Amino acid sequence: MHCPFCSEPDTRVIDSRLSNDGDQVRRRRECVGCGERFTTYESAELNMPRIVKSDGSRVPYNDDKMRAGVMRALEKRPVSTEQVEDALNRVKHKLMSAGEREVVSSKLGNWVMEELLAMDHVAYIRFASVYLDFSDINAFRDAIERLDQQKKPRKQRS
Ligand SMILES: [Zn+2]
Repeated sequence: MHCPFCSEPDTRVIDSRLSNDGDQVRRRRECVGCGERFTTYESAELNMPRIVKSDGSRVPYNDDKMRAGVMRALEKRPVSTEQVEDALNRVKHKLMSAGEREVVSSKLGNWVMEELLAMDHVAYIRFASVYLDFSDINAFRDAIERLDQQKKPRKQRS
């Protein structure tokens, strides 16, 4: 990075250490142009991408909303809380590791549908009917075809 004092593009790292909690690197730098010293901090960016809805609006990822949607689909279904949390965590991990600033909502919805498809077919169809709105008959047919291709739900852990 440029020296904040003289804008010289070349700086030299003279010291580098981890912060106390280990999630940040502190670097002491010296400008090769003017000799001034300054400190930079480096940390991993793990911000959730924003969700781009079908109308083009952007909303922050909402964990509670996501969980509520999945739980609604799973109401009275024989799926354990642990399975639901695992599934939600996998979806969140995909979101974070996508490394994008924005993720379209259809992609997010598909990840959730994949998880539900593997867990419980009734919940899968419930979620799909809300999520896809089934105003599009092709979307409904595709959802049913995916169900046909999936032979059996994952074995329940008791
Ligand atoms: Zn400088």
